[in-house]
Amino acid sequence: MPLTSDPACLLIDGTWTAAEDGRQRAVVNPFDASTLALVAEASAADVGRAVRAARAAFDEGSWAHAPAARRAGVLTATADALQEQREELAVLETLDTGKTLSESRADVDDATAVLRYYAALSAADPSRTVDTGRPDAVSRVVHEPVGVCALITPWNYPLLQICWKIAPALAAGNTVVAKPSEVTPLTTIRLFRLLQRKLEQAGAPSGTANLVLGGGAIGAALAEHPEVDLVSFTGGLATGRSVMRAAADTVKKVALELGGKNPNIIFADADLDAAVDFALTAAFLHSGQVCSAGSRLLLHRSLHAEFTAELARRAELIRLGSGLEKGVETGPLVSAEHREKVERLLAGALAEGAVLRAGGGRPSEPELQAGFFLRPTVLDGCHAGMTVVREEVFGPVLTVELFDQEDEVVALANDTPYGLAGAVWTQDAERGERVATRLRLGTVWINDYHPYVPQAEWGGFKQSGTGRELGPSGLREYQETKHIWRTVSPAAQHWFAG
Ligand code: NAD
Repeated sequence: MPLTSDPACLLIDGTWTAAEDGRQRAVVNPFDASTLALVAEASAADVGRAVRAARAAFDEGSWAHAPAARRAGVLTATADALQEQREELAVLETLDTGKTLSESRADVDDATAVLRYYAALSAADPSRTVDTGRPDAVSRVVHEPVGVCALITPWNYPLLQICWKIAPALAAGNTVVAKPSEVTPLTTIRLFRLLQRKLEQAGAPSGTANLVLGGGAIGAALAEHPEVDLVSFTGGLATGRSVMRAAADTVKKVALELGGKNPNIIFADADLDAAVDFALTAAFLHSGQVCSAGSRLLLHRSLHAEFTAELARRAELIRLGSGLEKGVETGPLVSAEHREKVERLLAGALAEGAVLRAGGGRPSEPELQAGFFLRPTVLDGCHAGMTVVREEVFGPVLTVELFDQEDEVVALANDTPYGLAGAVWTQDAERGERVATRLRLGTVWINDYHPYVPQAEWGGFKQSGTGRELGPSGLREYQETKHIWRTVSPAAQHWFAG
C-alpha cells in the first residue's frame, strides 16, 4: 500500500481538520515496518476544542432528547455502511494490526452486529413506574444520557472496540470524543467518516461525535477534562489506574476494561482433541494479543506428557506471515517495542526455570525478518510464583502448570489480580458448572474458548476492570438513572407551624 498522508483526520465539531500545530504521526505496518500512513497528532488544544464541541452538542439537547428511533437509525445506517465497505475495512485492519484477513472480516461483522444490537435495544423503553402507596402521587424511574463521553481504545481490536463504545454511547443519547490507539488508528478514522455522514443526514448537532488522535497524553487530557462526564477506557492495567486517578478530581463516571491473565483448565475427562485444539486458539489467536487470551494452561497431571507433546507439535506448525496471505494462521506482534517487552518476559521465564517446549524466539524465514514476528511459544514446568504466570504477556506465550485436585485448580486459577475470562474443559456437566461458579471471572467458557455475543455482558472481576460492555448493562454504563415524583393535587402539609 502506498504511503498516504491524511493530515485532516481529526473530527471536531463536524469538520475534518488537521492538528492545530500541524503535527503528524507515522502509522506502521507491523508485517514489514513500512509506513502505512501519516495521520494528525492532536494537541491538548485540539482536545479542548473537541470536548467543547461535544459539550455544546449535548447541552443543545436535540440529540439527547431525540426519539430513540432516530438515534437507532444512525447506528443501523452506519452498520449498513460498514458492511458495504467490509472488504476495504478488513484489509485496512489487517495492514494496521497484522491480524489475518479472516479475523479482520470477523471484526467488521462483529462491529456491525454490536451497532445493530444497540440500535434495537435503544428502542425498548426501560423506564418503570413505582407504586408510591399514595393515590395522589405518580412515581417514575427513567434513564437519561450521562453527557459527554470520552472513549479511549487499545490497538488490538481497533474497529471492534470503538464500536463496542460508540454504539451504546450514541444509542443512549450521549455525545462523544473518541481517541483510538496511536498505534492502530486507521479503521477508526474510516468509521468516523461513515458515522459523521449518517449523523449529518439525521440532523444531529455538529459536535455529536468527535475524533482526536494521539498518544497517552491525549488520552490523559480527556480523562482529566472537567467537561467530560464519563470515561470509557479499554487498555492495560497501569493505564487504567491512571485514568481512574485522572477522573477522580471531577468524579467522572469511569468504565474500565483492562487486561487479563486467563486460565484455561483441562480436567482429565476432557475431550482431548477439542481441548488441545482450543488451547492453541485460546493462546495464539492474533499472536496472543487478545485481552481474554488463554495464556495460562492449567492441566491435570495425568495428561501432562500426551497433551503437552501434541500442543508443542501443533504450535511449531503454526504458519506465520502476512495477514493478507491465504493460509497464514497468525501475524506479527503490533510493534517492535511490544515484541521487545514480550521477549523480556520470555527470557525472564526461562531464567526462572520454565522449560521451552515450542517456539521461544523470532522466526528464521527471510520474508519475516522485517516484521515484528515471534514464534508461538509453549513453556512447560511453570508455577504460580513466576512473573510470566502472574503478568499479562499479551503475546504468543503459553505457560503450562499442573494440578491434581479440583479445589487446587480453582485456587490456582483465582490466584491472580486479574479476573477477565477463562475456560474449563470437562465432560462432567456438574463439575463444569461448579467450577464456573467458583471462578472469579467475568466470562467463563465450558468446553469452548473465545465465543461471545453482543447480547451478553463482557468485563472483568477484580483488577480486570469496572463496569461492563455489551448486553443491557453496556447501555446502562452510558445512562444516568432519574426518579421523577409527581404529586397530582398538591396540598399544604403544615409540617412547620408558621
Ligand atoms: P494501553 O493501556 O497502552 O493503551 C490503551 C489506550 O490508552 C490507548 O489509546 C493509549 O493511547 C491510551 N493511553 C495511554 N496512556 C494514557 C493515559 N495516561 N491516560 C489515558 N489514556 C492513555 O493499552 P494497549 O497496549 O493499547 O492495549 C493492550 C491492553 O488492552 C492489554 O492490557 C489488553 O488486555 C487490554 N485490552 C482489554 C480488553 C478488555 O475488553 N478487557 C480488550 C482489549 C484490550
